[in-house]
Parts: sequence; C-alpha cells; structure tokens
Amino acid sequence: MNHISGNNRNQIRMLSLEQMVEPASMVRIIDAFVDMLDLEKFDFNYFKLNKEGRPPYHPATMMKLYLYGYQNSLRTCRKLEKACTTNIEVMWLINEQRPHFKTIANFRKDNPKAFKGVFRYFVAILKDWKLIDGKTIAIDSFKIRAQNSLKNNFNQRKVKRHIDYIDNKIAEYEQALDEEFDEGTKEKLEHNHQKKENYKKIQKKLKQSGDGQISITDPDSRAVVFQRNSVRVGYNVQAVSDSKNKLLIAADTGDVNDTKALAVMVNKAQENIGDVENVLADKGYHSGRELKACEKLDVTTFISPKESSSIKKNPDFAMESFKYNKQEDTYTCPADELMQTNGKWYNKTLKNGRKSYQVKHYKTKACNGCHLRAQCTTNKHGRLIERTEYQQYVTRNNDRVNQNPDYYRQRQQIIEHQFGTLKRHWHFDYTLTKGKEKVLGEVYLIFTGYNLRRLISIFGFEALMSKMKAH
Ligand code: SF4
Repeated sequence: MNHISGNNRNQIRMLSLEQMVEPASMVRIIDAFVDMLDLEKFDFNYFKLNKEGRPPYHPATMMKLYLYGYQNSLRTCRKLEKACTTNIEVMWLINEQRPHFKTIANFRKDNPKAFKGVFRYFVAILKDWKLIDGKTIAIDSFKIRAQNSLKNNFNQRKVKRHIDYIDNKIAEYEQALDEEFDEGTKEKLEHNHQKKENYKKIQKKLKQSGDGQISITDPDSRAVVFQRNSVRVGYNVQAVSDSKNKLLIAADTGDVNDTKALAVMVNKAQENIGDVENVLADKGYHSGRELKACEKLDVTTFISPKESSSIKKNPDFAMESFKYNKQEDTYTCPADELMQTNGKWYNKTLKNGRKSYQVKHYKTKACNGCHLRAQCTTNKHGRLIERTEYQQYVTRNNDRVNQNPDYYRQRQQIIEHQFGTLKRHWHFDYTLTKGKEKVLGEVYLIFTGYNLRRLISIFGFEALMSKMKAH
C-alpha cells in the first residue's frame, strides 16, 4: 500500500477562477452584498474620478477585500496584499486586481464614515427584512488593544517617577563631571536633560488635558483593565444586539468603563432601528443618571442592580433594610422608627471634587436610645440615610429585574457570544488604526461582516443569495 499522493505540479489545467471557488462559499455572499450597495451614497474616497492621474481602485473592490479579510483573520494591509496574489477566493472576489499594501491601508484609514454609513444602511435593510424588531435589545462591551504601548501611556504618578529617576541620574553625572571631565559623561548628562524636558512637556499636556492620563502614539486610547486585571492601552467597544436574531445594530468606542454608556447606546440603537422597547445590560451599566435618561428615551430598562456599598460592610443594616414610604417621603428603619427629611437637596461630590448628584438626608432622633444602634451605625449623630435624586428610577429598574429574572437572563444569549466570534475566531482583539473615529470605522467594518455571516445561518446560502439579488 502507498501513501496518499497529490497531483503532478506540472499538470496544465484549463480552469476559470469561477470553477475554483466553491458554489456555496462565503466569498460569493460578500460579493453579492457589496454589489447590492449603492456605494455613491456613502461618500467613499475615490468614488468620484479625477480627470487626470492614475485611476484609483473602485471602493467596491476594496470593500470586498476588507470584508473578506476581516472574516478570515487577514486584517493587516500586508496580509491582504499577499492574499490578492495567493488566495484564490480573493483573486476571484476582486477580479485578480493587486492593490499595493499602502493603497489597502489608506482605504481603511480614509473611510471610517463610509464604513459607518454601510453598517447603518445594512441594519436598515435587516429591519426591512423583519430580522430586527427592537422589542428587546442588549448592550455589552469588550476591550481591544490600541496602537499604543503601555510605555507610551502616562499618568501624573508615572511621569513624576520618570522625572525623579532622571534627576538622580543628572545629579550622579554632574558629580562625576565635577570630579573628572569626560566627554561621554557630558553627553549622557545632556541626553538626560533632554529626556527630562520631554517628560516636563508630557506633564504639562497632562495638566492641560484635565484627564488622568495621556497616550502618546494614539491620543484617543486609554489604559483599560483587561482580563485578570491586566492593564493595557486600548479601547472599550460598545455593542448593541437585537434579540430577535442576535444581529448587531449599533456600536461605539467611548469611555473606558460602561457607567455612562447606557443611554448613549440606547439612543444609537434608536437612530439605527427606530423604536426600542426594552434594554438589558449588566451591572456595569447601572447608574441612576443613565436609568433616568433611558426613561426619557421611552425605553424600559432591565439593568442588573448594583448592591449598595453598605451591604458589604453591614449586611443586616444595609440601605436595603430601610423601607421607603413614598406618600410621606420617609423611611422606616429596622427598629420600626420613622426617619424624616428636612426636604433639602445636598450636593454629593465625588473623590475628584466634581459635583455628581444630589441627595436628601433622612434621620431620626430615636437613634439616641436605640438598642440596635451599635449594630446599625458608628456615626455619633445617629444613622443617616441618603436618597439620591435618581432613586425612584433605580428602584423601578431593580424591581423589574428582580420580578423578571428569566427575562434578564436572556442578556447573555443576546449579546455575549458575538464577542467570542469577533475576538477568538476573527482575532479582533486589537485595532490596526489610530484615533477613535478610525477605530470605530474598523468596528463597523467587522460588525457588518458579522451580520453578513449571521444571515447565512438565518436564511441559508441560496435563500440569502436570492434575497440580496432581489434587493
Ligand atoms: S440606630 Fe437609628 S436608624 Fe438604626 S435601627 Fe436604631 S433607630 Fe433605627
């Protein structure tokens, strides 16, 4: 018996590219999808031709190349350039055109707005096809690394540490020069003075920015906490998915944490699909201000409640053990005493000194002789309950989640699995562009690719192809 052997390399074939591409290949869907778009609408660079100069590649060619690349872990311009000469599907897709890697890179860099336009248009088509209904949407985020190393991200503490180290070095070199002149030491001294000057400039920029940190290579990127508490410089990508078919309907790259993202993302979803009824999100999104904003947007929230800070310190006498009496605007404490307010609103300030929200105070004189006092509070003036201006929105949201645990549990099924595909399968765990807008352009590109792939699972290849051709 022999081993399995291949064909003779010198065999000449009469084959077209069309025959070499599988009939039900994803590449055919990408081709049909881009052909279905009216690219003139999206303001792609080089769509309109100049009278003179070298003819550019058609945006459809580049769009097809990128959609294919992002679905096949071929994201860098050099990998894509190579694929144009080695990958039969790519050769079929873009008719054996061979754009230079710089042309490929520039297309991604120059067209973030157009990618957003394509994504939004695609979402509108999905809505028309009744694949999105807006009854339940879920929001979550994932982190990607930026084109900025941790070494090039600074906060005041880090800059001070560098300056202190340089100051020590300078003192050492100066002392050495006092003892004996040496050209090498003098050069080192000058080099350290220059380094110190650079750090001083960074320090000044940091102060002017009013932000706690500054990134040098990509100024929009931020130090973010990744898995297992490792800190990297990156972006926090927000994503919204509709529950009907788990299609992605909105994206953003905003703050490093999710606390301020809820209403923004609900609003973006509304812009893209129209009416939204309910929104699900984890406790990272739980914030009184955001819950109020969502009520204003006419959306019912189901955001996992955050436990009050007192529950860890003193579980039996936590805020949750005090019952609010809406009619009288009072609280009943665990000793059945009535806690009253003077009706005044107090500004609650955060650690950084900025006003954050207002609170009302509730107290009772009964604390003085209360047998539970030692367990309830260490405050010498007795127990103080603070009710925020957003408490009513928080209570309504928390009640809804607690009364509908099965409904809330759908959140993970609606949003999280997409991140697995994007990050693990398509390796979208770092961005290749710099600046928030361009990074977001990349996100829209890969989200478009994701929805396209998802459509095959929903319709099947043949039905999807006919639908796109009919469109
Ligand atoms: S200490 Fe005051 S607030 Fe606490 S249980 Fe006693 S009376 Fe109520």
